[in-house]
Amino acid sequence: MAAFGRSMAREPAIVREIRACTECREALPLPPRPILQFSRRAPILITSQAPGIRAHEAGRTFWDPSGDRLRDWLGVSRDVFYDPSCFAIVPMGFCYPGTGAGGDLPPRPECAPRWHPRLVPRLGEPKLVLYVGAYALRHYLADRWQGRVTDVVAAWREIGPRVVPLPHPSGRNQGWLRRNAWFEAELVPALRSRVRRALASRSSDPRRTGAGSSLS
Ligand code: SF4
Repeated sequence: MAAFGRSMAREPAIVREIRACTECREALPLPPRPILQFSRRAPILITSQAPGIRAHEAGRTFWDPSGDRLRDWLGVSRDVFYDPSCFAIVPMGFCYPGTGAGGDLPPRPECAPRWHPRLVPRLGEPKLVLYVGAYALRHYLADRWQGRVTDVVAAWREIGPRVVPLPHPSGRNQGWLRRNAWFEAELVPALRSRVRRALASRSSDPRRTGAGSSLS
């Protein structure tokens, strides 16, 4: 499938390597289609879970209602969200892992250990880092993880301001959002403010004009 505005010639070698990865193809329900969005100079990094089937088909991460909710939390449009010079989006698993009785399966466990240590350091120094969902929280905020997303997200003031822990924006978490009204009343407004500041930093940073790539 054609990529949306992606220039292969300008992609960093590591991104081309990831796009060609077939490491766990035997465990995937569909042929590998690694999906990420990357720019060395993106001021905001989102580390999320794994593509759902709609993201897989579109070749775009968060191409579904959960993405609409996440963009609402962030206070950004689709255009800004899918601009690699604004957001780097690096899931814990780059390929659609399939669906089980309880919804999408976890990200493939091979993926983040194989690629993140090589990819993430190439992002420079994002102004803001967002860990979205249990798998990213458990991996990157291991010292905070005690088995519940709620505990890590509730500690957002201690963890921040550069790092913000978030629940997954899936519709399956509607009940969680109802039970934890503080999230949308307190964390989301602070998150929007931090996103605005991080994006505003682009105009004052001449380095943040580097090549970017998105999609699969
Ligand atoms: S999920 Fe990750 S490790 Fe597996 S094939 Fe896709 S890119 Fe490779």
